[in-house]
This record gives sequence, C-alpha cells and structure tokens, in this order.
Amino acid sequence: MSIPLLDLKAQYLSIKEEIDQAIMQVLDSSRFVLGPEMRALEQEIAAYCGTDYAVAVANGTDALVLALHACGIEPGDEVITSPFTFFASAETIANLGATPVFVDIDPVTLNIDVNKIEANLTSKTKAIIPVHIFGQMVDMESLMQLVRNYDLHVIEDAAQAIGAEYKGKKAGSYGHVGTFSFFPTKNLGAYGDGGMLVTSDEYIAEKTTMLRFHGCKTKYYHEEIGYNSRLDEIQAAILRVKFRYLDAWNEARREKAAYYDQLLEPLAKQGKLILPGRDPLAKSVYHLYVLRSADREKIAMELHAKGIASGVYYPLPLHLQKAFAYLGYKPGDLPVAEKACTEALAIPCYPELTTAQQEEIANVIHAALA
Ligand SMILES: *Cc1c(COP(=O)(O)O)cnc(C)c1O
Repeated sequence: MSIPLLDLKAQYLSIKEEIDQAIMQVLDSSRFVLGPEMRALEQEIAAYCGTDYAVAVANGTDALVLALHACGIEPGDEVITSPFTFFASAETIANLGATPVFVDIDPVTLNIDVNKIEANLTSKTKAIIPVHIFGQMVDMESLMQLVRNYDLHVIEDAAQAIGAEYKGKKAGSYGHVGTFSFFPTKNLGAYGDGGMLVTSDEYIAEKTTMLRFHGCKTKYYHEEIGYNSRLDEIQAAILRVKFRYLDAWNEARREKAAYYDQLLEPLAKQGKLILPGRDPLAKSVYHLYVLRSADREKIAMELHAKGIASGVYYPLPLHLQKAFAYLGYKPGDLPVAEKACTEALAIPCYPELTTAQQEEIANVIHAALA
C-alpha cells in the first residue's frame, strides 16, 4: 500500500460532481477575470475570518507583496520574520527593497519566538510578518500587545493556516492584514495558483484592490504603479466549492493528528522523537504533521522502503540561504531554527488518510527507532 504525503486525487474524486459543475458554469458564463465568483469568494472568506474585507490575488506570495506595499514598506526599511518558513515569507520583503531581519523560533511551536522580537527592533523596523507554521498560530495576543507600543504593521502569513484560531479568533484577523495561499497543497487549495488578503483596514483593502489591477481604480486611469495579480474565475469557483468543506477537512486533520500523537507517544516518552509542539491556546489546522527526531533520515528511509512518503520542512533556514548571503548571517546565529532544520520530518496527514494507514505508518516509525 503506497501512501502519498497528500492525496489530491482522492479529494477531487470525493467532490468531483460539484467541482466539474462549478468549472462548467464559469465556461458557460465566459467571465474569466475579476468576476462574480471571485467577489463571492472574497465575501465568504472575509465573513469566515471575521474581517471587513478580503482581496483575492494571483497567489500567496503576491498577497504578501501587496500587503507589504500597502503598508508602505520601502527600501531601507527592516521587516522582522521567522527563519523557519517557506522562502516567500522573506523573499517578498526583499522584493520591496526592504531588509529581512530573522528572529529565532520557539523550541516548542517552531513559530517565531515573540519574546525575542523586541530586542531586534530598530528605528528602521516597519513591520513584522508572523508565520503560522504548519497551521498552528503564533501567540498573536502577545504580539499585538507588543506592537501597541511601536508604530509597526503586522502582516500575518497565514498561507498554511486558513481556519486556524488563537483564543477562538481566526488566523488573518489579528494583524493589520493577513495573507492566504491557495496553492494546490494548502488546506484550501485551488487547481492552480491563488491567494488572498484579509483586513479590516479600509485603506489597505482599497490600496491592494488598486494594486492588483495595475494601480487602477477606473479603467485606463492609473493612480500609481501596480501589479497584475488576480484570482481567475475558474479558480475562484473551485475554491468556493472546496471552502464549504474546509472546516470538516480541518477537523479531520486534527483527528488524524490526535491519533498519531497517541500512536507515537511511547517513542516520545523514550526520547526517540518529539511530537508536534502545541500552544494550548492555539487551534491548529495541521497543514503538516511534523515530527522531530535526530534519526529522521532513518525514519524517512524506512517509510520510503514501504512506499510511504514523508517530507523535510524545512532543510535549510532562511538566514543561511544563498540568496540571503548578503545579509551576513552565519551558522549558529539562530540555533533553534537551525536545529529544527536537521530534525523536522512531515508524515502523511490529510482528511482522506485512513486509520489503518496511520497505524501502518506508526508501525514503520516504531520499527525504525527500535
Ligand atoms: C505557500 C506559502 C507561501 C506562498 O504561497 P504561494 O501561493 O505559493 O505563492 C508563503 N508563505 C508560506 C508560509 C507558505 O507556506
């Protein structure tokens, strides 16, 4: 029995009729860009997140770029983020000509260590991008309390965390703006690229709506230099179907995660691996179920031998990436993130995964660490 890290085919087959019909409707309407499906999705996601506005864009990376742009980030500014995330979280800071400043992560949650942020603030710091890694939110309450004393924007990178909560409040709704990715492998994935910003700040909503359409409010009259970054109607229609299942799918992921915890707990007790670290105030959506073990290569090899996929998220922290060599970081600068990169291993955790498959995966891990 071969088990992928994520089974998009099984998910599609479970909702095939609705998806096919949604796509056909768009083809019939022949409205393909900036149309009613996109606007309906924006309203649905804003309502879901508890924000006043949502602005759909071409992908999660663009959502960050437009958010940073709307927050006024420019060359010379510093923006703080996590070194333990997908490249886009920091790449976009550099895209605006600003300087990423990496703050080490919390050893339990692997999210940015909010307690270490203040020591890294300078007169140039203009924004913070907390990343809700693997679907578990950063302690946004402490973070928003901290920034109250400074003139700083907070942009939540919630690409992995749509539907996640901190103290009952949704990802994307704490910061001045939150961003989502609809990349196919995300918890709410399109059949291509897609992204969205959510905000309750009218200025940011208007600005990003202009920016995604060439800085234009009225067609052919351009207020400023913008971008071409839109969510097309076919993707929006697909996302509207899938969005109806999001809560049930996220709940299923949490159930799978709880069962893994139970199956692997003995190994954690023996100190052979570390289970995903939890903040009791955060309700994760388990974008990924990530173990940590000094023997991760052995686990991955044994799983692979049985046809079971696993993945390393992330092999190299951002401060040590070649692309950021110009920032001058050295190995040892952010030790918690660097250690996590040598130990982290994601195992299959998705709604369609069966109990029997989870037991098989756990058995292989037990055998690998025996
Ligand atoms: C996926 C991801 C992004 C980028 O989203 P795209 O839609 O692929 O551009 C940004 N940040 C994080 C943390 C991600 O996981």
